[in-house]
Amino acid sequence: MNSQLLETYRAIKNVIGDSNDPVALHEPNFIDTEAENYVLNCVRTGWVSSAGKWVEEFEKKICEYTNSKYAIAVTNGTVGLRLALHLVGVKPSDEVIIPSLTFVATANSISHLGGTPHFVDIDEKRLSICPENLEKHLKNISKYDKGILYNKFTNNPIKAIMPVHIFGMPADMNGIKKIANIYNLPIVEDASEALGSFIIAKDEKKHCGNLGDVGVLSFNGNKIITTGGGGALITNNKEIADMARYLSTTAKKEHPWEFDHDLIGWNDRMPNINAALGVAQLEVFNERLEKKKKLFELYKKNFESLCDIELISPPKSCESNHWLISFKMLFNDKKNCKKFRSDILELCHSNRIYLRPIWRALHTLPMYKDCPSSSLVITEKEASRIISLPSSPQLYKK
Ligand SMILES: *Cc1c(COP(=O)(O)O)cnc(C)c1O
Repeated sequence: MNSQLLETYRAIKNVIGDSNDPVALHEPNFIDTEAENYVLNCVRTGWVSSAGKWVEEFEKKICEYTNSKYAIAVTNGTVGLRLALHLVGVKPSDEVIIPSLTFVATANSISHLGGTPHFVDIDEKRLSICPENLEKHLKNISKYDKGILYNKFTNNPIKAIMPVHIFGMPADMNGIKKIANIYNLPIVEDASEALGSFIIAKDEKKHCGNLGDVGVLSFNGNKIITTGGGGALITNNKEIADMARYLSTTAKKEHPWEFDHDLIGWNDRMPNINAALGVAQLEVFNERLEKKKKLFELYKKNFESLCDIELISPPKSCESNHWLISFKMLFNDKKNCKKFRSDILELCHSNRIYLRPIWRALHTLPMYKDCPSSSLVITEKEASRIISLPSSPQLYKK
């Protein structure tokens, strides 16, 4: 076996320890939390469904932590993104600008409204929308007609930009916002992976998801905290918040007994029993973030001496939650990269260490292959050379 492969494997083992138990990419963990008590409280009181004190408490804690005025807890992140896009005005046949190197749900949420993802290239460092490329691309492909921005090649309106904070690394929101302002496009942040990630500007910390018009968090089982399934919209815009609440509860007018609805709403609200799990983890969230940071540093130390393998570090003037700690293969030869990729995945999986390659770029999937896009050179390069490591905070043991 080649020595580079073995050295990388050893570096991983040094971090995760000698036990032969299976190690997943990111696993739920409720040790040292009140989760059992809070869930039991739901069961004993019967308050298990889409209202209750844990939902209120969870939303309040999300607001406090992210410094957002409003938080609306929903059943999952995908649904949250779909709701957020609807609220900023995305309609059937509209285009929404997103990166292609993201989890498929980013694009699906647009399709669920009948819209079309419009892919733009990313920057190497942050792995999210590259502002310079975005600006050039919009200049080339857009036109205005009666004040509405159109893709002049498809004749469909371009209605929003949805940056993604990949692996919890903040996207270049300042750069993206400048261009969004020029074109008067709303920003929906896919902050599904970014609870606990901040952008630091002029001594001020801003939480991811709180820099555009509305942001969406996910609490799926593999995320940094989990409510089983779940998500939340965060925003400082009262109109968006009120409408999110209304539409996610079937657009029912408040009344003690009448069933009166005046819009087509959804049933999107997070159940109380799920929110109880969320509250329990937010209570220990700072400790969890601290462990993630230490785990990242431990990987960093063990990967330092590896040749052509580089641990991905978060960009400057940011705090990352280190959701998925990942590495890049820097081989010049594409073939070497491909071989190392399959060798390390095979070796680790056969030892029940479940590394994962980054997602396949969405513009290569059958349902999204004909979507409009800019050139995606960096996207394709990065898609081929990134692998994520086991990143559960509980892997860090003092
Ligand atoms: C997890 C995730 C989602 C979707 O969240 P779910 O809660 O699983 O529906 C969307 N976008 C990105 C980038 C994600 O990682």
